[in-house]
Amino acid sequence: MEIVRYAIGDVVRLKKPHPCGCDTWEVYRTGVDFGLRCRGCGHRVMIPRPKFEKAVRQRWPLGEGAPDPPPPKPAQGKGQKRR
Ligand SMILES: [Zn+2]
Repeated sequence: MEIVRYAIGDVVRLKKPHPCGCDTWEVYRTGVDFGLRCRGCGHRVMIPRPKFEKAVRQRWPLGEGAPDPPPPKPAQGKGQKRR
C-alpha cells in the first residue's frame, strides 16, 4: 500500500459527506489525530489517524486543484434537488 504523507492545507474527500452537503475537508492539523475542517460549513472534527486514512477517498495536496467547495446551503435543504 502506498504511504501518503498528509500535510496541513491538504484537501481530502472522505467516504461520508458532511451533513451540510460538502464532502471535502481541509487538513488543519496532523499527528496522532488529524484535524479536519469542513470546506462547506467550516465545522471542525478530530479523527484518529487510522480512521482518517481509511476514510479518505481522494487527496489534493496543498494548492493542487482541489475542487471548490459547494456554496453554503440553507439549513433545511435536506433531500432537495436543484434542477
Ligand atoms: Zn459541513
